[in-house]
Amino acid sequence: MPDSNSPPERSPARPGWVYLVGAGPGDAELLTVRALRLLGEADVLVYDNLVSKEVLACVPAGVERIYVGKKASHHALPQGDINQLLVSLARQGRKVVRLKGGDPYIFGRGGEEVEELVQAGVSFEVVPGITAASGISAYAGIPLTHRDFAQACIFVTGHLKDGTVDLDWEMLARPRQTVVFYMGVTQLPAICEQLVAHGLPATTPAAVVRRGTTSAQQVVTSDLGHLAQAVQEAGIVPPALTIVGEVVGLQERLAWFKPEQAS
Ligand code: SAH
Repeated sequence: MPDSNSPPERSPARPGWVYLVGAGPGDAELLTVRALRLLGEADVLVYDNLVSKEVLACVPAGVERIYVGKKASHHALPQGDINQLLVSLARQGRKVVRLKGGDPYIFGRGGEEVEELVQAGVSFEVVPGITAASGISAYAGIPLTHRDFAQACIFVTGHLKDGTVDLDWEMLARPRQTVVFYMGVTQLPAICEQLVAHGLPATTPAAVVRRGTTSAQQVVTSDLGHLAQAVQEAGIVPPALTIVGEVVGLQERLAWFKPEQAS
């Protein structure tokens, strides 16, 4: 009998199942044990552009790989087609790993894919991953909460379906909280302006982190009044994460990760 502290027995990957797996933010060592195990057992891998090459290097050579992300000048496979692909691969009796950057249920459309699997009667499991906000804040030296500075933390998307940024700015501009914007780099000037217009001081510390947790990690810290310009000068392009709040002021003292020394 396992004692009460041992983890539950884990079943191996099963034919005809889809495993919706979080790949974490980039560093392959941030994969969960379950994710790594399923990658080793998969028949076919369906992945997109946020999955790092370090993580892909953990996938055995014999596993078929299907890329469904954006290619230069091409669009990603439409979401409906990805959903159908997962259903049809599972119906062929294959062990399908659907690998997504970060956590599949945080701005990852994982919910939409699983709804489709449920509707099609396909068996599935969801394996959580370290989401960009927690992986990147840890590696960049920014604790998302801190008793002296932030009692709450909000994850929000800076990119809406129709390309606008129509958010609850009053709520986002409250003091004593940290706000993390996913997908917000192109809209950064508007985001900073709105936060200040709704009451946050222009001196509020803020950071943008690109390709966090990898050897290519870039961190730009500034304040709300100057962040957009600093990011433009540094040539930061997506994917990058924006963190706003007093906790960013700790970054200089708490940074420990040396991207140039990472493999
Ligand atoms: N499901 C993912 C998020 C998908 S949305 C997760 O849980 O992390 C895509 C956005 O995530 C990017 O635009 C960027 O804002 C952020 N992101 C993901 N990985 C990142 C990384 N390594 N560095 C910086 N931002 C990242």
